[in-house]
Amino acid sequence: MNVSDSERIAGCLEELGFVRTEKREKANTVIVTTCGVRQSAEDRAYGIIPKIKKANSSVKIVLTGCLAGRADVQKRLKDSVDIWLPINELAGLGKILRKRLEIAAPLARLGARNDRKGSLGGYLKINPKYESPISAFVPIGNGCNNYCAYCVVPYARGREVYRPAEDILAEVKGLIKKGYKEVILIAQNVNSYRSSVITQKTTGSLRRRSAPPQDDSGAVNFADLLKMVNDIPGDFWIRFATSHPKDMSEELIKTIAECEKACHQIHLPAQAGDNEMLRRMNRKYTREHYLKLLKKIRLALPDVSISTDVIVGFPGETRKQFKNTEKLFRQARFDQAYISQYSPRPGTAAAKLKNNVAKTEKKRREEALMKILRRTALANNKKYIGKNMEVLLEGTRKGIFFGKTKTGKNVRIKDVSNHPVGQFVMVKIKSAEDFGLEAVLENKTAPEPKRGGRRIFNRR
Ligand code: SF4
Repeated sequence: MNVSDSERIAGCLEELGFVRTEKREKANTVIVTTCGVRQSAEDRAYGIIPKIKKANSSVKIVLTGCLAGRADVQKRLKDSVDIWLPINELAGLGKILRKRLEIAAPLARLGARNDRKGSLGGYLKINPKYESPISAFVPIGNGCNNYCAYCVVPYARGREVYRPAEDILAEVKGLIKKGYKEVILIAQNVNSYRSSVITQKTTGSLRRRSAPPQDDSGAVNFADLLKMVNDIPGDFWIRFATSHPKDMSEELIKTIAECEKACHQIHLPAQAGDNEMLRRMNRKYTREHYLKLLKKIRLALPDVSISTDVIVGFPGETRKQFKNTEKLFRQARFDQAYISQYSPRPGTAAAKLKNNVAKTEKKRREEALMKILRRTALANNKKYIGKNMEVLLEGTRKGIFFGKTKTGKNVRIKDVSNHPVGQFVMVKIKSAEDFGLEAVLENKTAPEPKRGGRRIFNRR
C-alpha cells in the first residue's frame, strides 16, 4: 500500500511542477512515506530522516504514512521534519504543499479539488506515477474496520473507504492500453470491497444499477469486481491482496477459478495458529476455519500458492500456544510467510498488554517457523520441476532474467537475452529452491492465453 501511496504522491508532485532527482542531496523537497506496522519499519524512519536533513540542511521534509499522526514520533523528529501529513489527509497534498512550500505554480487541478480532511476518496483520484512499466498497483480501497488488537492501520488510515468500480475499471483499462501486463488490486481487506453504481458505458457488458452502497444485494462485491477486471480485453494478469480469512467467500474462490486472468496466488494472513491467541488478537476466526478455508481454496485452485503473515510473541503467548502455530504451519504448507516478532504499536489495544515474551524467545519462535516454512516451500516448489510454465519477465540482473509465474513464484531464467522485459515467455522449470525456481526458455513466446467469449455479467 505504501508503494501505491508513493506513486500517487509522485503523481501529485509532478502536477505541481516538481522534477524527480535520484540524489537526495540535490532535492529541495523529500516526502517520506512511513510505515508503522512494525517497530523495525519505524526505526528505519528514525535512521533515514535525520540523515537526509544532515546531508542537505535546506531540504524540506514531509512525513506522511502511518507515523505522521503520532505525537511521540513528532517529538522525536521535530528538528528534521517540516510538514506532518497524516495519511488520511493525503487528498489535500497538493494544496498543503503549495501553501507550505510557497510554490508559485497554479494550484494543481487535483490538489484543489480534493482537499477535504479525512477524505481518501479524493486521494485515490490522483493520477499515479507508476514505478514499473509492467506491473501496477491499483488501490481499490483504503482503511480498515477490523481493529486487530496489534494493528495501527485503522487508527492511521481510518475506516474503510472503497473506490467506485467505474474508477478502478477506468484505471485498469488505461494501464492495459499502455501495455501493462499485470495489475495488483490492493486494499487492507479486498474481501470487504463494495461499490454501488456501474454503468454500461464503463464496463461495456454491465447493466446500470443504482443500489445504495449499504445494500449488499445490489452492490458490487470483490468477486464481481474481479469478473469485471477479467473482462477487460488484453493479455494481462490480475493479482490482489490482502484477503482476510474471516471474509473470503466461496463465491470469491469460485470466481478466481473461473477468471482466466486471475493469478492463483493468495495472501491469507493467519497471524497465529492458536485459537486463544486469535481471539485475543481480535481476528474473528479459528484455526479450524482457516484450515477449512485453505482446503476449499486448494480444491478449487490445485496449483495455488499461499502466503501468510504471522506474529510471534504476542503478549501472553505461551510455548504451548506457539506450538499450535507451528502445527498450523506444517498443516498449511505455506509457500511464503512474513514472520514478525511482536512489537507494541502505540494506540492499539495490545499496547496496553504486557509485552512479556522475551526477545530471545521471539527470535527462537521466528526461526522455528522459518525452518518449517523453508521445508514446505521447497516441497511445493519441487513439484514445478519439469513443468512448462508461463512467466512474466520482470527484469534482468547480472545477465540473468527474472520473472514470476502466475502463482507468484520467482523464476530465474538463463537464456532469454532476446526477450524484452515485460513479455510473457514459456519456460521449463529445471530446479527448485525454497523461494525460487530456475528455468530455461522453452518456446520463443508464451501461447496466446485462452480466451473464452466475452462474458456477459448480470447481477443475480
Ligand atoms: Fe490491521 Fe487487522 Fe485491518 Fe489487517 S485486518 S489492516 S491486521 S486491523
